[in-house]
Amino acid sequence: LIEIGQPEHSAVTTCAYCGVGCSFKAEMRGEEVVRMVPYKDGKANRGHSCVKGRFAYGYTTHRDRILNPMVRDSIDQPWRETTWEEAIGRVASEFKRIQEKYGKGAVGGITSSRCTNEDVFLVQKLIRQGFGVNNVDTCARVCHSPTGYGLKTTFGESAGTQDFDSVEHADVVMVIGANPTDGHPVFGSRLKKRLREGAKLIVVDPRRIDLVRSPHISAEQHLALKPGTNVAMLTSLAHVIVTENLVNEEFVRARCDWNEFTEWADFVSAEANSPERMQQYTGVDPEAVRAAARLYATGGNGAIYYGLGVTEHSQGSTTVMAIANLAMATGNIGRPGVGVNPLRGQNNVQGSCDMGSFPHELPGYRHLSDEVTRSLFEKTWGVKLNPEPGLRIPNMLDAAVEGTFKGIYIQGEDILQSDPDMQHVAAGLGAMECVVIQDLFLNETANYAHVFLPGSTFLEKDGTFTNAERRIQPVRRVMAPKNGYADWEVTQLIAKAMGLNWDYQHPSQIMDEIALLTPTFNGVSYKKLEELGSIQWPCNDEHPSGFPVMHTETFTRGQGRFMLTQYVPTDEKTGSRFPLILTTGRILSQYNVGAQTRRTDNVMWHEEDRLEIHPHDAEQRGVKEGDWITVRSRSGETALRALITDRVAPGVVYTTFHHPLTQANIVTTDYSDWATNCPEYKVTAVQVSLSNGP
Ligand code: SF4
Repeated sequence: LIEIGQPEHSAVTTCAYCGVGCSFKAEMRGEEVVRMVPYKDGKANRGHSCVKGRFAYGYTTHRDRILNPMVRDSIDQPWRETTWEEAIGRVASEFKRIQEKYGKGAVGGITSSRCTNEDVFLVQKLIRQGFGVNNVDTCARVCHSPTGYGLKTTFGESAGTQDFDSVEHADVVMVIGANPTDGHPVFGSRLKKRLREGAKLIVVDPRRIDLVRSPHISAEQHLALKPGTNVAMLTSLAHVIVTENLVNEEFVRARCDWNEFTEWADFVSAEANSPERMQQYTGVDPEAVRAAARLYATGGNGAIYYGLGVTEHSQGSTTVMAIANLAMATGNIGRPGVGVNPLRGQNNVQGSCDMGSFPHELPGYRHLSDEVTRSLFEKTWGVKLNPEPGLRIPNMLDAAVEGTFKGIYIQGEDILQSDPDMQHVAAGLGAMECVVIQDLFLNETANYAHVFLPGSTFLEKDGTFTNAERRIQPVRRVMAPKNGYADWEVTQLIAKAMGLNWDYQHPSQIMDEIALLTPTFNGVSYKKLEELGSIQWPCNDEHPSGFPVMHTETFTRGQGRFMLTQYVPTDEKTGSRFPLILTTGRILSQYNVGAQTRRTDNVMWHEEDRLEIHPHDAEQRGVKEGDWITVRSRSGETALRALITDRVAPGVVYTTFHHPLTQANIVTTDYSDWATNCPEYKVTAVQVSLSNGP
């Protein structure tokens, strides 16, 4: 306090990094943030935070921020700074020109999970109302789209079932494909506290994450499966539960479709799905699988938490449904301490999905083919909506390469870095005639852009984020936007330039429209958020604060639906040329590709991305600690320093992807989830060899 001086005023807002959604008091002197203090009444964090959130204000004032709009006629020309008027006029006239020349469907857009619900809602509205198409998608495409699909199919709602408090009632916790102490640190701490109090832990992960063994915590079972074999593992766990009569028949009869259950039970109980037979794929000792299944089914309240190690696979949606099957079969749904809990990645990835950022769904996950829903939007917006789903991100890029998709509006998303098959993304962007980027920094995708619209940070705008527990929380403007406009205002300028009569004076009016059109947001308003602090959708007049736990009496879809989850090995194969499997994850101090954290005081803890390799594999290749090694796949190659560790099993290597030089997506494949196109980032066959560095 002596160094930074006493704050003059403060405002409570929400962290803009991960899906935990910690509340902070931004302490200010004038227009300057001097400190972010974890807010003790924050319902998601209760006064705690991690090292990322405390320093998050740093990137707002970083010198790399672009504060003036820029345009250029082609991507080989230098950028030219211009006025907002010219830049917005260029966007509107280019999208109109492209649609007149190539047809309506030649344009689309991508919303951002870093932006507020209100920002996202307006982008999808612009695309549907202004462009007249459904070519809208979000970065959830590359992370939790299988969660949306899998949970909607089985339970009827595309969201996690519990609040974070629920973990305090768990007796057994199964963590699958997630590393909460690094990826979701504040929730990770609460989980550790519960484990220290005596809850039992099962970890399903190829890598020995910290939770497996940390002070006073030791997992009962660590099922260190081969990457890409989640479905085989989960089906074999189900096999044990069914064949050893551990099913909660009372729950299943009362809450689920019995015929579908018996069909599923017949399927999983086949000998081919036993742990002994599945060992050929998973590599895990069948006795450990049996012990884990017994513990989850009989150990009291069983809660499952999972992350991108579940979703980013060619069977990502199947895996989510296999998890839902396990929870239903054991009756672990509908009360505190149980449930299926996706640990959502970005601060507002839940919200960006809720807001209709999918080419087939309007806000609230309602399919475009639903006439009643469509007519509600048509009446409110005064347009006829196309009932046909639009293009997903990969389809937009494919169409661009084929020459039928020509213009894109990308808000707060660096698809060149974050989407699979970088070369294909570059080819798609390079083939377009108008790429519009709205962002804080000149990201990699901006290399292919014609218009750059400066974005605003979470400190410069009012709005809301929705965290992993469906909690809608206020984001409060504590300083004027350095670029001149909040993101929602920029989208409104484009809409007006395209002839739409939008006239929002404040994001609270956007929320009023969201609440009017979206049953799960029934009654949400800024006034209610001020009164209650936060609201967990679904909410209504009877339950204005919403529901901490969903599916308490019935599932949203009525009866819970068991799905057959046949294991299908990925097409990405190891062999003599590419003998190792590369998988990826995060570290505590950095966030995703580091665009924000590398521009804050988190650089203090910057650890370069390293390749974790087992001592046996390192020795075979003559690799020593710290050596530069080339990681080569069928798609491309990158260079990393070696970190020799038995955290990974022989045959598996692992890296983080926080530094742009790592460019992990140069080596990843273009395989993706069969249902949602979520990329298979977690399984890449590679070879590694000594090199001289990048
Ligand atoms: Fe909380 Fe996540 Fe922000 Fe850390 S990064 S402070 S855990 S919301």
